[in-house]
Formats: sequence, C-alpha cells, structure tokens
Amino acid sequence: MLFESGLDKICDTVIGVLANEETCIDRIMKRDNIDRDKAVARIKNQNNEDFFKIKCTYCVYNEENESTKKQLEEIFSGKNLSNKNIIHIYDKEIEYLQFRRLIEYADKLKHCYTLKPLDFGHNSNYKENKEKVAKNYKAICGALNLNYENIYRPYQTHTDVVKRIVNEKPSILSDDFKDVDGLITDKKNQVLSLTFADCIPLSFYDPVKNVIGNIHSGWQGTYKEIARQAVRRLKEEFGSDPKDLICCIGPSIRDCCFETDEDVKNMFYDKFKYTGRINEIIKKSQRNFKYYIDTVLINVIILLEEGMNINNIIDSGICTKCNSRKMHSHREERDLAGRNTNLISLV
Ligand SMILES: [Zn+2]
Repeated sequence: MLFESGLDKICDTVIGVLANEETCIDRIMKRDNIDRDKAVARIKNQNNEDFFKIKCTYCVYNEENESTKKQLEEIFSGKNLSNKNIIHIYDKEIEYLQFRRLIEYADKLKHCYTLKPLDFGHNSNYKENKEKVAKNYKAICGALNLNYENIYRPYQTHTDVVKRIVNEKPSILSDDFKDVDGLITDKKNQVLSLTFADCIPLSFYDPVKNVIGNIHSGWQGTYKEIARQAVRRLKEEFGSDPKDLICCIGPSIRDCCFETDEDVKNMFYDKFKYTGRINEIIKKSQRNFKYYIDTVLINVIILLEEGMNINNIIDSGICTKCNSRKMHSHREERDLAGRNTNLISLV
C-alpha cells in the first residue's frame, strides 16, 4: 500500500519485513482461517520479495527469533550495508549483498556478493579447506536456489584473461581455467564464482543478448585493463552492444584505504595520465611518499571508453577494508584473510 500510494516518497527510511513463503502461507491460513490453496493464491497476487528488495531502504526477515533482533540492531547501529544500489540480505545464518538493478532481472539471473562468516578460501589453502568451502557453496547456492554442483571457479592470478565457457565441466580451480580472471557465458545454470578480498568484482549483464560475465579486477587487473577485455570479449563472442551492457561494481578496497608506495603510483600515473583525470585517480597521502589510488574510477573510465552508458555502471560504493567486520579484506587481515565470493548465474 505504501508504494502504491506513493507515500514511500515522503519517508526517509522504509523497512520491508519479509518472511519465507512457507511462513507466510502458514500465517495467512491461521490469521484469516482459510485453507492452504486460498492462502497460496493470495500470496501469488501480492508483490513478490524482489519488489521489496528493490524498493525498501532495508529488508528484515521475520523468522521470530534472535536473527530478527540482530537484523534490526544492525540497521539501527549503521551496520546494515544497504544503500541506494545495494540491498543487504540476512538469510538464516548467512548474509549477502545484491544489486537492486540486477534484482530487476531476477527471472533471468541470480547473483550475490557474500559476507562473513562465509569464506571461500584462497588458491593456496583450498585443498585443506575443501569441505568447508563446499559447505559454504551449498549454503549460498541454496539461498539463491542454484545448484552448487554447477560452480565454475577459475584459478585467478591477476591476469587480464577473460574466458568464455565452452564445453568445460563445472570445476573449482581446475586446469581448464588456470590463469583466468574473468568468465563469460550465455548458458543457463553455469554458476560463475570468482573470489575476492579487496579486489574489484565486476558483474556484467547484457539484457538484450542475455549473457553474463564475472570479472576479477584488482589493482593489477585494473592496471592491465581487464574491464576493457571483458567488454570486448562480450562483443566478440555474443555480439553485445556496449550501450546495452550493465556493469555492477561490487565491494572492494576504495581510495579511502588503497594506499600505495611511489613505485605503484608512478605506474598508474604513467599509464592513466592520458585520461585527463589523474588528479582524481591519484591523491597524496598525509604520509610521506604514500599515495591513494582510485582503482574503481579507472575501471569506470575504461568502461565508458569502451562505449558503455554511465547510467548502466552501478557502483556498490562499499569499501571492503572499512567494512572488514563483514567482509574479508586482505589489506586489513593480511595472510589470514579469507575470501568473499561474487556469484552470477543465468537461470
Ligand atoms: Zn576504506
């Protein structure tokens, strides 16, 4: 009613209270004393969960337990990460972020960026943590209604290589996808999973050709311009028009925290001074011989150069290091850092 009447526009904050479908059916049956079929029919007539995820400032899942209390506490203490582009979801024991813009296409694709405590391990210790990682994939895929056996996770090594999945089987860190930092596909039920601890996740969707991409663009990938490769590969492989592409920039270390030495600063200066925006890209730190670099801005500039529309570049605006309580951050946790995963799959 709030949205239909337009009254949401005069509210500073709108909190949507959601519950899983079974709970809703149960409650309606009890409240209105009707049978199950009638309750199901009534729910089908209502706006679905995605509508509220797109529209509400925050969403709370009311399971009538401690989790509900925690979710409300996090909203009121500023720990909920929802913003105009992002909705923060609490699903029983797990938490993840979604882009409101991609939820608009929920009948075509599923996606998320996971939060702690989920941890997908890094390349070097995957073997020891295999079972734990499998359990976490099952949990997140369960929440998104995806099959965890369809995970494609490349062996990322900060390259600019973007690979289209052809006939390879789903796999985690197999040789099929060694030294690959971006995956693209037009096939349904291929769950693209890349992992992150500060690097920039770029989720691509072309609603015209119905193809997706998942790209790992850390400072090295940014320097090597993997974002440019991603747009070009989507063009070559699927005939995507860059103007149709949507690119969602996930949580990553931002220019508030990405402090570098003179050598890295010089590399970026030399490579990107042509943009005319070097004073926005590089800022002097208060510490001597230290600089802050805005790698997100470089990715945006590259995407625009490749012909994308600024309105289709959606930034989460979230810094992983500033929010390391919720996200694995290499800068904050060093070698102890786990990995968040950015997932996207056509359905
Ligand atoms: Zn920060």
